[in-house]
Amino acid sequence: MDKIVLVGCGNVGMSYAYSLINSSVHVDELVLIDVNKDVATGQAMDLTHASSALNKRIKIKAGDYADCENAKIVCICAGRGQAVGETRMDLINKNYEVFKNIIGEINATNFCGCYLVATNPLDIMTAITQELSGFPKNRVIGSGTTLDTARLRSLISAELNLNPKNIHAYVIGEHGDSEFIPWSNAIIGLNKATDYINKTKRAQILKEVRNSAYDIIRLKGNTCYGIGVCLRNITKAILENTNTIMTVSAYDKYSGTYVGLPTVVGANGAEEVMYLELSEEENVELKSSVSAIKNALRSLKK
Ligand code: NAD
Repeated sequence: MDKIVLVGCGNVGMSYAYSLINSSVHVDELVLIDVNKDVATGQAMDLTHASSALNKRIKIKAGDYADCENAKIVCICAGRGQAVGETRMDLINKNYEVFKNIIGEINATNFCGCYLVATNPLDIMTAITQELSGFPKNRVIGSGTTLDTARLRSLISAELNLNPKNIHAYVIGEHGDSEFIPWSNAIIGLNKATDYINKTKRAQILKEVRNSAYDIIRLKGNTCYGIGVCLRNITKAILENTNTIMTVSAYDKYSGTYVGLPTVVGANGAEEVMYLELSEEENVELKSSVSAIKNALRSLKK
């Protein structure tokens, strides 16, 4: 049975749930959990009506942590988001407390599926989930830089008037201010992206990608639809064992932490990290991004 438990029924969680029921991904049961039980109950009712209008038979309910027992995926979108002027890293201690509570509850069940984390600061919350749950590292993944990669592809797509599916370019590193684009590996169709996009434009694209969340939060208070679809895509890869390469936050055996890298995602979560051959400059950028994650983890008030 394909059962998903969603913890955190706010903007991100519900955009994910809405994207999921509107997609071809087969889900038998979707359980919503939130510290605010009324919100979870109301959202479950609303989504049930949406799934009926879609002529689907998905059991959608507000539940509790015992529901994690036989779930394939527990997706965590609970916790604080950035306010205007805040960085993702500013959320670390508050969301650590939230995760201690949530993972503690799930540890009391026999959950043995995959954890999928969306809460910020993303790579840190993913590492914390693995640490608190003691799960095999491959079965804990974060949304990583999947959203940032979608943002990058949307900009290149607009610039070159091409379908995003023909743009094989990634944002890697921390889902945050130190993320970067390894242009040496970016391919458009079958050609190098650098043949089409000059240095000035490349710098402008990186700046826009890095600032996207800040701009959207300033304009409308939160970001939700992009991440909702990215979480849906990761869910599809796990449930359907598609072995799709995505820049999820996966455990990097070289640095010993979670970071956004191209990773094969399948039924066991992160099946394999696809390490890129980076230029000297890009290697320095990756090291500095990994350091940002590790330093933040060290700074955590446990
Ligand atoms: P939100 O405030 O709309 O929703 C958060 C929900 O979590 C609320 O419904 C709240 O009641 C619930 N919650 C809080 N503590 C809880 C607990 N202990 N147990 C269960 N539920 C609890 O926030 P949002 O906009 O949905 O953002 C959620 C998180 O996702 C934030 O950390 C945000 O920064 C992050 N985010 C990540 C990405 C990404 O690319 N990974 C993109 C956007 C937002």
